[in-house]
Amino acid sequence: MSNFVYQRPEDLYPVQQKEPVAGVCSACGAEELARYPVLSEGGWFMVVKCQVCLHSESREKWNRLGHIVLHTDTIPHHDDPPERTPR
Ligand SMILES: [Zn+2]
Repeated sequence: MSNFVYQRPEDLYPVQQKEPVAGVCSACGAEELARYPVLSEGGWFMVVKCQVCLHSESREKWNRLGHIVLHTDTIPHHDDPPERTPR
């Protein structure tokens, strides 16, 4: 049994899709917001960023290993608050 939940990409060069988000950048005023995952020094985050100046409008913890989701990570921990239970 595999511990992988995710499907391996089939394209030779996978590209991160960015979901357009309605709204205006609070830093530069551009109507160019997009939601997508990023990897930074603190791990993976799901962000909404301005595509003109890269200001982050929101930044929330995402999957521990990014696009790679293990069955192990889907097991709820008893000390996790319900809203933080991994999906
Ligand atoms: Zn901006």
